[in-house]
Amino acid sequence: MAKIKERAKVVLIPGDGIGPEITEAVLEVLDAAGANIEWVRHEAGLAALEHGADVLPQETIEAIEHHRVALKGPCTTPVGEGFASVNVQLRKQFDLYAAVRPVRSLPGVTTRFENVDLIIIRENTEGLYSGVENEVVPGVVMSMKVATEKGVLRIAHWAFRFATQRQRNRITVFHKANIMKMTDGLFLRASDQVHKREYPNIEYETAIIDAGCMRLVQDPGQFDILLLENLYGDVVSDLCAGLVGGLGVVPGANFGEDTAVFEAVHGSAPDIAGRNAANPLALLMSSVMMLNHMAEQTPAYADIAERIRLAYDQALLDGQKTRDLGGDLTTDAFARAVIERL
Ligand code: ATP
Repeated sequence: MAKIKERAKVVLIPGDGIGPEITEAVLEVLDAAGANIEWVRHEAGLAALEHGADVLPQETIEAIEHHRVALKGPCTTPVGEGFASVNVQLRKQFDLYAAVRPVRSLPGVTTRFENVDLIIIRENTEGLYSGVENEVVPGVVMSMKVATEKGVLRIAHWAFRFATQRQRNRITVFHKANIMKMTDGLFLRASDQVHKREYPNIEYETAIIDAGCMRLVQDPGQFDILLLENLYGDVVSDLCAGLVGGLGVVPGANFGEDTAVFEAVHGSAPDIAGRNAANPLALLMSSVMMLNHMAEQTPAYADIAERIRLAYDQALLDGQKTRDLGGDLTTDAFARAVIERL
């Protein structure tokens, strides 16, 4: 089996809950596929808090700053204890403004729909997740929804460029500009403008998000790329995961100008943590996205990415599935099933 000769360094954050289990499973597959990556391990979330004062330690930030690519397990942020979310902090720190989440029907995973193949592009740094909250007077709290011209234009450009590069031909923007006329209005106008001026050949439509969600659950096959602001992107990602088999099968990537962090859409799933029961596939698929990203510098990674993708598709076709997909495999047994098919 071909092996990458030059060892690339990638930051690895195993995370919390099911994070360490699924991360180990993914590393085994990547290693068996010959990815030859040197993992630079760092902590974030509860794991980091146990060894220090912060959920996102300075060493972790510096390592990502240095290596520019990270594979990250889900991280838990303690609720109501004054810690800002690890994910939100990371996205702000590295200005990871574009989240990409491919959602596709998988062979051997039966759901209500066949042939779902859509990509969610979520603005990752603005909207209600800006973290601007305050108590106006006792008993009255406020959360500010922020949209900037710079932010909405750059995500619109990113989405249309991505569509062109991937030969995707249709973008749908979900919004609520009929109510949030200023913030969602700005988002919508930016997308309209980028489409009209620069990408008139890509099909483009807009939908009010509530009606759009109804269309999604009726007939997801009608969508190609969905472009959404931050909160809508978060919610609609989980909805779309439900269309193709659940949170165990939807990967994700967060891109900035020069840094990329790859992680599954799901969280730390504390209910099944430590039981060798989680599905490592979403993180494995995220690692395939990572290899394809690394292939922009070192093309050989693309072959390894493809080999892994074919192997997990085949494993699913052969009925090798974890419990969330109706099978009975443990986390590491699924990883072995993929390795056997590499
Ligand atoms: P967080 O607050 O970290 O997002 P959460 O429990 O609210 O955690 P998720 O971790 O995303 O949300 O998980 C929701 C449910 O989906 C979990 O309770 C778990 O049962 C299931 N789940 C999520 N990820 C996986 C996975 N990889 N494999 C199997 N089941 C999963």
